[in-house]
Amino acid sequence: MDKLQGEVRMLVDGELVNAASGKTFDNVNPATEDVLGPVADGSAEDMARAIAAARRAFDETDWATNRGLRKRCLEQLQDALESEREELRSELVAEVGCPVLVTYGPQLDAPLEDGLRWPAKMIDEFAWERDLGEREAFGIPSRRRVWKEPVGVVGSIVPWNFPVEITINKLGQTLATGNTTIIKPAPDTPWNATRLGRLIAERTDIPAGVVNVVTSSDHLVGETLVTDARVDVISFTGSTVTGQRIMEKGAPTLKRVFLELGGKSVNLLLDDVDFATQLGAAAFTCMHAGQGCAIATRLLVPRARHDEAAEIVKAAFESVAYGDPTDAQNIMGPLVSAKQRERVLGYIEAGRREGAQLLTGGGRPARLPRGFFVEPTVFAHVDNSMTIAQEEIFGPVLVVIPYEDDDDAVRIANESRYGLSGMVTSGSEERALSVARRIRTGTLAVNGGVWYGADSPFGGYKMSGIGRQNGLEGFEQYLETKTIALPAR
Ligand code: NAD
Repeated sequence: MDKLQGEVRMLVDGELVNAASGKTFDNVNPATEDVLGPVADGSAEDMARAIAAARRAFDETDWATNRGLRKRCLEQLQDALESEREELRSELVAEVGCPVLVTYGPQLDAPLEDGLRWPAKMIDEFAWERDLGEREAFGIPSRRRVWKEPVGVVGSIVPWNFPVEITINKLGQTLATGNTTIIKPAPDTPWNATRLGRLIAERTDIPAGVVNVVTSSDHLVGETLVTDARVDVISFTGSTVTGQRIMEKGAPTLKRVFLELGGKSVNLLLDDVDFATQLGAAAFTCMHAGQGCAIATRLLVPRARHDEAAEIVKAAFESVAYGDPTDAQNIMGPLVSAKQRERVLGYIEAGRREGAQLLTGGGRPARLPRGFFVEPTVFAHVDNSMTIAQEEIFGPVLVVIPYEDDDDAVRIANESRYGLSGMVTSGSEERALSVARRIRTGTLAVNGGVWYGADSPFGGYKMSGIGRQNGLEGFEQYLETKTIALPAR
């Protein structure tokens, strides 16, 4: 572990640079609380340089129009990332505290599979222009064509929980569509982003300024992207509160915003399900200590079978392997920071106070005195109006909520300000699908199906966000539409 040495420098205008101030801040391992090493502590001055570079690269190079170059660059970046895949894996485990097991899935290998490749393929397949044919308007016959063009400079703001997954999926679409960008990683997880910056500088033909990476310990350095008129779009993944602030601060420059925010998704088991075989999977709420926006954190079960479900889930949570994220047996490591741990413990306290029944967990594990760990925790007899059923905890906490019938289950599922994801399971696929269609969320897994993929739109209804990551819907968010009319021949 101690031989890990992350990239300290940022990528600004094609150069790997230290912060203008010369300052650095510490990258901390959340599983041990040890300092891993330093990273550049960028300021508003560094961000302004990066924005100017991205603007210039968009306005003055042929990046926006040269599809062949973009495709080649994405392929080079894919190769570069793959050549350092194992170093990246160790780095992610160390700085995110994510179990190595999860890096074989959504944390690393899944986005590396097609996060760049799918948008690169779209460069050839997407309909960049279309013919509307002739039409007479105000007595003037005209030919009309519609072109899709890049929006311009994209401010990409990334959280700490799945940093590579989110960065790669933003970057693939941003670059394939011909935009330039400034990537702003979360202060907790900067090295994966500075590594990406180094790979771009050293191993690809991506022109100077097309991609910039600015690290900072100060969240407000990210806000510069939102307020600066030279930035056209904010592609943000993070909390709903920050998303709201971005909309507000972006209003004076009429910023286009794409927001992937929080969730409080349900795992809904209909009354015909065999709990013994289906309920153990509820322990996946603890995957990566529950730090996933799409994780199902409300378990909805028929009231008549509540106690049966509670017993199975309690046993499943008590057998969750957790601790050292480098241990391949564990599905759960620490929370990312002491602050997040305290936040999660605060919600557990609220659950107790409001009268939910604590079945297991509820505190810091005595066997893990170092690191920001919280025990896998289950509350039963939860009413959907309770704080722990309404607010995103972002920790290894599951709430079991009883319902009366399918209509009541749908009502409870939808009685949330969030609408990101969810799961529905039934002995009948038809029944599960018809219930799933009534739940107002952006993605749903029915009877164990998996929606994840670069071609698959992912995002939220309601306060879970605006827009979609991935898929054609995501791709088009990075494009403007231009209609041109010419006189009819
Ligand atoms: P956060 O909103 O605090 O921070 C996210 C990013 O925004 C960080 O890079 C941070 O530095 C930056 N930031 C903070 N304040 C800012 C401001 N005023 N202006 C511009 N940038 C600012 O979120 P977090 O705590 O890092 O991440 C956890 C949240 O992210 C959870 O709510 C989770 O559900 C959500 N999330 C959503 C998705 C999704 O796709 N829907 C994916 C992952 C995480």
